[in-house]
Amino acid sequence: MSAQTTKHQAAFYTSLENTIDDLREAGLYKVERVLASRQGAEVVSEDGRHLINMCANNYLGLSGNESMVQASIKATEEFGYGLSSVRFICGTQTVHKQLEAALSKFLGTEDTILYAAAFDANGGVFEPLFDIEDAIISDSLNHASIIDGIRLCKAARYRYAHNDMADLEVQLKAAGAAGKRHKIIVTDGVFSMDGTIAQLDKICDLADRYDALVMIDECHASGFMGATGRGTHEHHHVMDRIDIITGTLGKALGGAMGGFVSARFEVVEMLRQKSRPYLFSNTLAPSIAGASLEVLKMLSTNTELRDRLHANTAHFRSEIEQLGFTIKPGTHPVVPVMLFEATVAQKFAARLYELGVLVSGFFFPVVPMGQARVRVQLSAAHTTEQINTVLAAFAQAGRELNIIK
Ligand SMILES: *Cc1c(COP(=O)(O)O)cnc(C)c1O
Repeated sequence: MSAQTTKHQAAFYTSLENTIDDLREAGLYKVERVLASRQGAEVVSEDGRHLINMCANNYLGLSGNESMVQASIKATEEFGYGLSSVRFICGTQTVHKQLEAALSKFLGTEDTILYAAAFDANGGVFEPLFDIEDAIISDSLNHASIIDGIRLCKAARYRYAHNDMADLEVQLKAAGAAGKRHKIIVTDGVFSMDGTIAQLDKICDLADRYDALVMIDECHASGFMGATGRGTHEHHHVMDRIDIITGTLGKALGGAMGGFVSARFEVVEMLRQKSRPYLFSNTLAPSIAGASLEVLKMLSTNTELRDRLHANTAHFRSEIEQLGFTIKPGTHPVVPVMLFEATVAQKFAARLYELGVLVSGFFFPVVPMGQARVRVQLSAAHTTEQINTVLAAFAQAGRELNIIK
């Protein structure tokens, strides 16, 4: 601490240091890995190591892709670097309107509004639409940004046990008994820790029975879930039964940043008038809008990337089980490889790093006690050869640590 520190400053900064120390001691301190390369199937770490990357949300492999780089340069040349404005003053360009229209077409909705991030979309979607007379019924494992967005809104909150349709029904009945005007069920389309796909067919049936609307957060689904990659609503054949879709441009759909809400005209119109993260935050950079538009063009003409991602996922899921590892069953490219104990998960991830594989270990309190794991995320950019190299590293580290025989 510098010499000029006053007493009240010292008290403040010391308390921060103590809290950080507590995080370190509790094993909750987050260290950021520094990459010296583009994002991709293979990355180079700061110290020059080449690693096969199995922990990015780069589902379609577009993040470091050369065609994306060129599309963003082209959009920058045409529309400039930035807008220095919010949308409603002088920050809306043709490329933003085109992207909003293309997203609506892709998702099967009427209209779309762009945000700087999906965090902002979820943070700004509830407050303009729902009031003290209304009810929001939310899955208990919904993303942090949904939780924050609901907090910013005056509607009554009902939480249902994760993915539990019986409890959802209980909560819908409770909201009905409380005489709530509008009810909306909110769920992640796919939950990122387990790769669990929300039961949207059942959720929509319950919504019909109890006069509720349905909102899904498609951050881990847009671009690759469903037969043509439209999302979880396509996967479950309920494309015409969802009221509000939120999503990100920062995962499968290119991987830079940006978010959106896609819904009926009335919803989007209200958000343009009232949604605070939209009204009081800068326009999405034209490079991102232009490149995202190219992504949607590509995904609308063929399903090649989506198909490769699912083939890679099926291959990895089947082979890792053959090796004797326990995984959470499913079909999503998020594959939790269960190690149960936190220390095992930490050692395993560290050993894989030495063997040239980048995965992230998760343990309590990020996942429940005794449910420690490494979470593998497949990408369309992975070659079969790379996946087999990863499987061999899992086998070696697994035998060394007595996880498998
Ligand atoms: C990643 C994620 C977000 C946040 O997306 P950003 O565009 O990065 O802000 C929101 N919801 C879910 C479910 C996510 O996985």
